Amino acid sequence: MNKRTLAQVLECPRLPSLPAVAVQIIDLCRQDHAGVADIGQVLSHDPALSAKVLQTINSSLYGMRQRISSVERAVVMLGLNTVKMLSLGFGLLPILKDAAGKDYDPLPLFRRSLYAATAARTIAKQVGIAEYEEAFLGALLEDLGVFALLQYLHTPYVQLLQQAGPRHSRLCQLEQRQLDLDHPSVGAALAEKWLFPQWLIEVIRSHEDPSSAPPPRRPLLQAVALGAKVADCFLTLGGQSEVDDYLSAAQRWFALDPKANQQLLETTYAGTRELSRFFDIPTGAVRGPDEILVQANELLLQLSLNASQNVSALQERNRQLRRQSDTDPLTGLANRRFLDAYLDHLSHVGDHKPVSLIFLDVDHFKQINDTFGHHAGDQVLVQLARLLEETVPPNGLVSRYGGEEFLLVMATCTLACAAALAEKLRLAVAAAPLAQAGDRPVAVTISLGVVCAEKGLTPDTVLAYLQAADAATYAAKKQGRNCVRTLALQNRRTDQIPSRSVGD
Ligand code: GH3
Ligand code: MG
Ligand code: MG
Repeated sequence: MNKRTLAQVLECPRLPSLPAVAVQIIDLCRQDHAGVADIGQVLSHDPALSAKVLQTINSSLYGMRQRISSVERAVVMLGLNTVKMLSLGFGLLPILKDAAGKDYDPLPLFRRSLYAATAARTIAKQVGIAEYEEAFLGALLEDLGVFALLQYLHTPYVQLLQQAGPRHSRLCQLEQRQLDLDHPSVGAALAEKWLFPQWLIEVIRSHEDPSSAPPPRRPLLQAVALGAKVADCFLTLGGQSEVDDYLSAAQRWFALDPKANQQLLETTYAGTRELSRFFDIPTGAVRGPDEILVQANELLLQLSLNASQNVSALQERNRQLRRQSDTDPLTGLANRRFLDAYLDHLSHVGDHKPVSLIFLDVDHFKQINDTFGHHAGDQVLVQLARLLEETVPPNGLVSRYGGEEFLLVMATCTLACAAALAEKLRLAVAAAPLAQAGDRPVAVTISLGVVCAEKGLTPDTVLAYLQAADAATYAAKKQGRNCVRTLALQNRRTDQIPSRSVGD
């Protein structure tokens, strides 16, 4: 970790100072004997803050039967801890909300914090974690480091945020690579400097990687991390990989069943909309819970259709590989090493189920670089990668094969199914420019080659199928580009699979 940069961020004069009311509440959190009179006293100096605490307590999130109209009554009904957590969270919010820059709107980040907080609290309650108010506060403040880095670095960090897209795990990777520092450690250092309670410092430090937290804190951290995944489902329009990511974590950490998923999404949606109103946050373009549920159910259905032992083992293996292996730094996709390991794994499964390969090459990419510059070229690759990840179903692996070439490996997928997916991708890419170079849109098309190992891959045919997919792409190029070519292979023997010289 780059300690020098960290020290500079912490000393940055543009960082806002801690609001006085927050200082007082942090102080109260440290005093064991603090009581209702003390919190009442602090909040009486900040009517706007007390109003927000009371509005929240009276919102659907708390489901109170009767209206609560004073801080003292709130403490009696809900306990001192709830009021302290809410006051601290909302007392600190101006720091996040006002982290505006001249050319960057932090509102989406702020909105994400509200969704994440509401979701984390709901999850914690659902699964019986006693510290559900802590989950709310932790998720609300988990990205403190993002706001601090935004204030300190501004434009270069804005670019980094744009490059990362909505995925914060990708943001961490980029931060580490480019800054030798990431937002969880910056947030934790700031929280330490501001004397936040120890548990909150830990939540901020480990929110991207709950498994690194000590076991007693792990459920709380998992609730916070899952809250952020729920937020991403709402905020990434149409994002299938976000729903997949959320479902698999919900299953792994808390074994949430479909009913619990539905309740979580509905409560988060309604609760966050109410909170957004209290904080004058435009709700912006978000997905409704039904839309996410439909997508989640489709994924579950697909998983159960593929429910043979081998396929689920394969998917688990797929996830493991994704986690442990290197990714391509520009696009965040699986890299060639990962791909090779995955193909090797598939070739040893031996379940004789079809495996399809879709090879994809950007058309005239050299011209894109020459006309718009390498940076625009890079942006095209990043956006293309994102589109692929969003469109390819969970039984598929998307990898960057090299340069402007990508390879999709589709397990339990027939030639017809892969060809349909390839055509869908071709149309999606051609539909709208993938990037901007200044005010000039950069439109691209892709050529795709599809092959299928109808009875599965074997160690001695992997290379031949790769060559065949390459040959099919070459045929698509020869046919004029922006098209899909499939190659139906009758025989799996290596020497009978055509290479590049053969057209379709
Ligand atoms: P075709 O339609 O026949 O595929 O033409 P093409 O120009 O796409 O193919 P060619 O193989 O001639 O050129 C590929 C170009 O991709 C050349 C290389 O500079 C560029 N390239 C490879 N990797 C990257 C990258 O990471 N970023 C950028 N911006 N360009 C890259
Ligand atoms: Mg190429
Ligand atoms: Mg090309």
